[in-house]
Amino acid sequence: MLVVMNSHATEKDIQRVALFIESKGFKTLISHGEARTVVHAIGVKDEVDQRDFELLHGVDEVIRLSTNYKLAARASQGKDTIVEVNGVKFGDKYTGLIAGPCTIESYDQMDETAQELAESNVKIIRGGAFKPRTSPYAFQGLGEEGLKIIRSVADNHGMAVTSEIMEVSQLEIFEKYVDILQVGARNMQNFNLLKELGHAHKPVILKRGLSSTYEEWLMSAEYIMAGGNNQVILCERGIRTFEKYTRNTLDLTAIPVIKKLSHLPIIVDPSHATGLRDKVEPMSRAAVAAGCDGLIIEVHYDPDRAVCDGAQSLYPWQYDLLYKQIKQIAPIVGKEII
Ligand code: PEP
Ligand code: MN
Repeated sequence: MLVVMNSHATEKDIQRVALFIESKGFKTLISHGEARTVVHAIGVKDEVDQRDFELLHGVDEVIRLSTNYKLAARASQGKDTIVEVNGVKFGDKYTGLIAGPCTIESYDQMDETAQELAESNVKIIRGGAFKPRTSPYAFQGLGEEGLKIIRSVADNHGMAVTSEIMEVSQLEIFEKYVDILQVGARNMQNFNLLKELGHAHKPVILKRGLSSTYEEWLMSAEYIMAGGNNQVILCERGIRTFEKYTRNTLDLTAIPVIKKLSHLPIIVDPSHATGLRDKVEPMSRAAVAAGCDGLIIEVHYDPDRAVCDGAQSLYPWQYDLLYKQIKQIAPIVGKEII
């Protein structure tokens, strides 16, 4: 940690800061620059609150040199993490695809959708059984019945399943029916849930919180990894900004930033990010061109009759066209869709 003194700091201020740092059990090294002096605090532990140093007289700013996320950090391993489910790979040079409706409505709805998606080579189907709706009066999902439906439909079509888990108590049934556990944006900082998922033996898709920074997002991934589960896929799903035209603002910069900071795969959900079907296709192409490690896209066999998020769900023919386009884009940026 670096404690940067302001230009008015006196020698007394500097010595007081150094003594304070040493009183916390750390070593110090003082370097006098032309305009400012920097006090290096050596061996600072994660739990140290840097605000304690910021408040000291003569201090301008405090800079942390080590990240708080250790296991998720790029520095912790040489290679990119690859998560593989049902032959689909996410990470390194692979771009994996997931598609399916927002929510599981009925057996027929899932089966019709899966049948269409199978023709576009979809190997992982999505569908929510427990829905985190903004309104308590909106459809909340079919619950366990929904998970049974998606499992059975997926099995019939040789697909794997991802679905959103909302609380710790659901883990047992999710272990039974689901191949990838999805943590929704609203639960990104549900630390009790993240801790439990650290002990799960299934990969986790961790969606970015509505207003979360990259660091907060990676800290949440760290919670899962600290429990022993390193199969974490980060998912950029749009963040809240002042812009109201689209449902959220898709932050594609997250792709190169996360790739620099972490070895974990990062996928993009253009459906919840944009909220509008006609914006999903161009933003999917852009995400692949930016080097994302996968996409999770809402597709419904009949979006006009979807119970939820129909406006952002693609028609199966649109997904098929998109699939063919991104398959061509991926190799240009050194990626492969299998
Ligand atoms: C979803 O994927 O169904 C969903 C609710 O997404 P998010 O958590 O990103 O809003
Ligand atoms: Mn949805």
